[in-house]
Amino acid sequence: MLSIIVPSYNEQESLPIFYKEITAVIQNMDTDYELLFINDGSKDRTLEILKSLADQDSHVKYFSFSRNFGKEAAVYAGFCNIHGDYAAVMDADLQDPPSLLPQMLDILKSGAYDSVATRRADRSGEPPIRSWFARKFYQIINKISDADIVDGARDFRMMKREMVDVIISMSEYNRFSKGIFGWVGFRTYWLSYENVERVAGETKWNFWKLFRYAMDGIVNFSQAPLSIASWFGIGMTFCSFLLLLGIIIRKMLFGDPVAGWASTICTIIFIGGMQMLCLGIMGQYIAKIYLETKGRPHFIISETNCEDAARVK
Ligand code: UDP
Ligand code: MG
Repeated sequence: MLSIIVPSYNEQESLPIFYKEITAVIQNMDTDYELLFINDGSKDRTLEILKSLADQDSHVKYFSFSRNFGKEAAVYAGFCNIHGDYAAVMDADLQDPPSLLPQMLDILKSGAYDSVATRRADRSGEPPIRSWFARKFYQIINKISDADIVDGARDFRMMKREMVDVIISMSEYNRFSKGIFGWVGFRTYWLSYENVERVAGETKWNFWKLFRYAMDGIVNFSQAPLSIASWFGIGMTFCSFLLLLGIIIRKMLFGDPVAGWASTICTIIFIGGMQMLCLGIMGQYIAKIYLETKGRPHFIISETNCEDAARVK
């Protein structure tokens, strides 16, 4: 059986189209299936639409969150509630073409791979400045962390149950799926496809949200920023030692003309700024530790048509 996980947040326009397309594709596939829709606290008619789909079609299961927990939580809730031997994650806006599903399932069934991941072949239809930041992000994170994160990778994936179980067992509160998928390893096949625009509705990401997401990715998968502070400290100590030598030599050769408060102030401000930056970096990590130690659930399901659902986890 194939379980398809669809996080949905304010997707009233896209969902009916998505449902039609995916059903058309999947009915021609030689497999039993279930569609798991996670309503991530939508403020529009998403839940009503899901309920009416579930009434017509017993393959449809919906899980409705008590509020918006974010896409990562929605995907996690999906993983926790699958019944299939294979699981796929897809967006509700048809940016992940259902037509790839048969090919993905064949690759997994052949036994040579444990997961099939997808990446965009290009970034067309995206503002150039965003593409630039995105490319830089992937360069940096791959240098400073051991999670192998592929540029242009989408969250559209299909994987075997074994891999899903491992992902469920990684119950960290701050989730960054792209990093987690890479970190767990397994044999992954990469499929490329052309970028597709969303069919209806609007993207839930703006530049600032994406920037924070990128920062989360770095802080969750790398300790490198923490060591910036120590390297900087070592560098400063070395410089000040040289400076001290210089001052002593100057004093001995030319005496001591008092001057230079401007340079003193500049140095103080500079070092103050650097200290603040380093404190900020540490603060980022401490905030994550704080959230992690509280051990709060990732999601709370308030309504579902699935009796054996894990409602809180
Ligand atoms: N999504 C979600 N919770 C959120 C934001 C988004 O479940 O808080 C879902 C959304 O409904 C969609 C998927 O995540 O199915 C991807 O969102 P979107 O298309 O806005 O992102 P983009 O494709 O622009 O990166
Ligand atoms: Mg989208």
